[in-house]
Amino acid sequence: MRLNTKVSIKEDKPLEHCAVFGVACDDIGYSISRYLYSGLIALQHRGQESTGISIVNTGGHIFTYKRKGLVSKVLNNKMLSKFWGNVGIGHNRYATTGSQEFSSKDYMQPFHLKNNEIEFSLAFNGTIPNYADLKQRLEDMGRVFITNTDTEVIAQFIASLAIGTDDWSEILRMASKFLDGSYSLVILTSEADIYAIRDPLGFKPLCIGELKTDKRNIYFVSSESCGLDAVGAKFIRDVEPGEIVHLSHQKAIHSEMIIKADRTALCQFEYVYFSRPDSIIDGVSVGEARVRLGINLAKSDPLLKNPEFRENAIVVPVPDSGRSAAVGYAIESKIPYVEGLMKNRYVWRTFIMPGQKKRESAVKEKLNPIRSVIDGKHVVLLDDSIVRGTTTAQIINLIREAGAKSVNVRISCPPVIRPCYMGIDFPTTDELIAGRYKRLHGDNFTEEIRKKIGADSLRYQTIENLVNGLKKNKNQLCMACLTGEYPLKSVNKIIELEQSISSDRKS
Ligand code: SF4
Repeated sequence: MRLNTKVSIKEDKPLEHCAVFGVACDDIGYSISRYLYSGLIALQHRGQESTGISIVNTGGHIFTYKRKGLVSKVLNNKMLSKFWGNVGIGHNRYATTGSQEFSSKDYMQPFHLKNNEIEFSLAFNGTIPNYADLKQRLEDMGRVFITNTDTEVIAQFIASLAIGTDDWSEILRMASKFLDGSYSLVILTSEADIYAIRDPLGFKPLCIGELKTDKRNIYFVSSESCGLDAVGAKFIRDVEPGEIVHLSHQKAIHSEMIIKADRTALCQFEYVYFSRPDSIIDGVSVGEARVRLGINLAKSDPLLKNPEFRENAIVVPVPDSGRSAAVGYAIESKIPYVEGLMKNRYVWRTFIMPGQKKRESAVKEKLNPIRSVIDGKHVVLLDDSIVRGTTTAQIINLIREAGAKSVNVRISCPPVIRPCYMGIDFPTTDELIAGRYKRLHGDNFTEEIRKKIGADSLRYQTIENLVNGLKKNKNQLCMACLTGEYPLKSVNKIIELEQSISSDRKS
C-alpha cells in the first residue's frame, strides 16, 4: 500500500507492506472468523501496524472490523464471536509512516466500499506507483476520496468499472489492464464471493488451498503458504501471475488467466528476507533457498583456504535474518555454526528511535554477544542484507568487544544500490550504503563499505549465485534494487521524471 508522502525509514532492513488472507466455506451455517484469525497470525511478519477483517453474512451485508495492533490483540475472542459469516477476508498492514493521519481507520485494510451501485471489501499487498494519475482521472469524473492511498484508488477504480454491470470477472479483467504495479489482492463481494488477483509480473506471492471434511469444504487464499498450514489446509497451488481466481462458497474454485506476460518478476527479497522460511513460493521452499544462498557464499570464499583461519573460525548468524544462510555456510565450509548473538525478543521496534546515539543503545538492548563462544575466534558473520549499514557496523563492534580475533561479514543478497518503487520501504539511493558508495567509489565500493562498517572482510552474494540459489532464472525475478533495471513501465517514467527534476535543480 503506497501513501502519497515522504516516508521515514524505521529499520535498517527492507520493510514489507502487508499480508492478505481469505476464506470461503460452502456451509452457510458455519463461521470462518477463527480461520481468518489463524491465517493472519501466521502472516503477522508481513505487517504489524494494524489488522482487519471483512465477513459477509447470509443477508449479503459485509461487516468490517479493523484496528491498530497485532492480530492477537485486535481479533480477540469477544470480537471473533461477534462476527458471523461463512466467507471473509483479512489483512495485516505495515505502514510507511507513523503519523496520526495514517493511523486512522480509513487507512487500515480491508478497504470497505459501499455506495448506491456496489458494495465490496478489498485487501491489498503491493503498490501502484502511478496511482496519483489514476486518482486524478477518477476525481475528474467526480469520485471523492477519503484517503491518499493507492488502495482506495484501486477500490474507487473498480467501483467506477462496476457501473451498470455485476459481472465481477469482467470488472476485474478491465481493472487489471489499467493497473500497472505490484499487487496481490483479494476482494470480498456482497454476493459472498472472493476474487484473488496477482499482477501480471507476480511481484508478490499469493496461493490457494482447501480443507475438505465430511461436513464442509473450505477454500483459502493466502499471501504465503504458511497461512494455509496454520489452518490445516492443503496447498493447491500458487495463483499465477496475471490470474484471477474466484473462490465461491457455491462453486468451489474457478480461475481465469487475464494477462500472460513474457516474463515474471517475483521480488527476490521474498526469498531472501520477507517470507517465512516454512513457506513455499512459486515452487521454491524459502528456507531451503536461504540455506543454498549460504552454501553459495561459502563455495566462493577465499578465506576458507587459510588453515589457521579455519581452525579458529565460527559461523555466527545475525538473528533471525541470517540464520538459514549461516546454516548453509556452515554446512559447506564445515566450520561450526554457533549462536553467538542473543536477541532480546521483547524489544519492539527499537530502530524507530531517532538519532545515532539512541540507535546505538537500541542495538545493544536488542542484541548481546555471547563472550564465551566468541572470545579468541575468527567470526564469519552472516546476514541477509545491508541497507544503510549503521546496524551492521554496530553489530561488528559488539562482536569485537566480546573478544573476536576478526569479524568477516558475509551477505546472502547482492549489494542493494537502488530504491524500490514496487512496495518495499527502502531508503533513497544516497541513503543506501551500497548505492552511495558505488556512486562515490565505483568498482571499489565493497572495500570502502568494509572500511566504513569496520569489518576485517566483506563479501556479498553475486547476482548469478543469487539467481541459482533461488532456482529461478533472471526473467522470473525482480532484482531492480540490485541492478537498477525496473520491470514496470510506470516506474521507468517516474525515474525519468525524477532525473529531469534533479538535473533542472542542478542547472
Ligand atoms: S526493487 Fe527490490 S525490493 Fe523492490 S520488488 Fe524489486 S527486488 Fe523487491
